[in-house]
Amino acid sequence: MTTKPRILTGDTPTGQLHLGHYVGSVKRRVELQDSHECYFILANIHAYTTRVDKSDEIRRDSLEIVRDYLAMGIDPKKAVIFLQTEVPAIFELTFLFAMLLPFNRVMRNPTLKDEIKVKGLGENYSFGFPLYAVGQTADILAFRAHSVPVGEDQVPHLELTREVARKFNQLFCNVDEHADDADHEKLGGVFPVPVADVGKVGRLIGTDGVNKMSKSLNNAIFISDTPKQVKKKLGQLYTGRQSMTEPGDIHNALFQYVRTFIPDEARVAELERAYAAGDNIGDGHIKVEVAQAISELLAPMQERRKQFEDDDDTIIDILKDGCARANALTEQTLAMAKDAAGYGFFKRALCYE
Ligand code: ATP
Ligand code: MG
Repeated sequence: MTTKPRILTGDTPTGQLHLGHYVGSVKRRVELQDSHECYFILANIHAYTTRVDKSDEIRRDSLEIVRDYLAMGIDPKKAVIFLQTEVPAIFELTFLFAMLLPFNRVMRNPTLKDEIKVKGLGENYSFGFPLYAVGQTADILAFRAHSVPVGEDQVPHLELTREVARKFNQLFCNVDEHADDADHEKLGGVFPVPVADVGKVGRLIGTDGVNKMSKSLNNAIFISDTPKQVKKKLGQLYTGRQSMTEPGDIHNALFQYVRTFIPDEARVAELERAYAAGDNIGDGHIKVEVAQAISELLAPMQERRKQFEDDDDTIIDILKDGCARANALTEQTLAMAKDAAGYGFFKRALCYE
């Protein structure tokens, strides 16, 4: 038995990963691989919520994300990378957890509301769309994860997860309603109440200079972008500053990039000073420097990625191994949850070919 704390996080396969994914979550995952038991989910059924007609793309994106993970430094020998659709306990727990959440509570989730707006879903979303918010609580709790490294936008989802964990433990495991979140497992609760681990950059702004970097908003720098593409995209970042001698706002989007991607702290401090003072420094110059730093970050990733470019078999093998390891743990959780919830009638085992 390992005593390392456990983390669960992941991505919806909706295309290639971008810098927002990297600084918001993947970078942290790479750092935690040795000290934590790590599970990384490809939430592929959640991609069907809005793209049920694009199953081929979702399948391709699922494999591409694994390539991006490997490129960014995730090691499948240490971390478990798996497909949501191969872990049945997640689906079974989703149904049970749906009974613990008032319908209106799910619909009040601000991230869900935001997505409906941004994706222009209006009133025409599937039943499965809000269900995915419940599903996400099951993704996390099936692994009895203690923490979840995510970007800021995921915090409301995690709050829902924390509510489900508390409610389950109170209802089915006699955990006192005034118990500290941190004590739930110790007091006999099946589920730890997980915490969000939002990194230093919880919300990387996109190259439009306004919104969260996001594939759907066309403001993303992808892990696979060439130095030329990076430079061009950054060139479009609008700050509103008119001249090299105008004092600039070091809290604008450009300076978020400066602080996030230029590794030399002394250089960052000097750029901040010169910009704030309007000391003969143009936005264009800073953009070139940031673009170079980003391309230097991406170059080794792109080099590593080449190894796996045309090799689907290796990727599938990684996923198969990951799913087996994910199922070993989540079947155990499911049995505990069924016992607690009163429908654990007998043991069962999953059968693999
Ligand atoms: P996209 O809109 O580009 O498809 P997404 O937000 O839908 O991205 P998810 O798969 O939902 O991507 O998120 C994966 C992880 O990456 C989450 O933890 C999310 O918070 C994080 N993330 C995504 N975009 C950003 C960003 N711009 N800044 C910080 N973190 C981000
Ligand atoms: Mg999303």
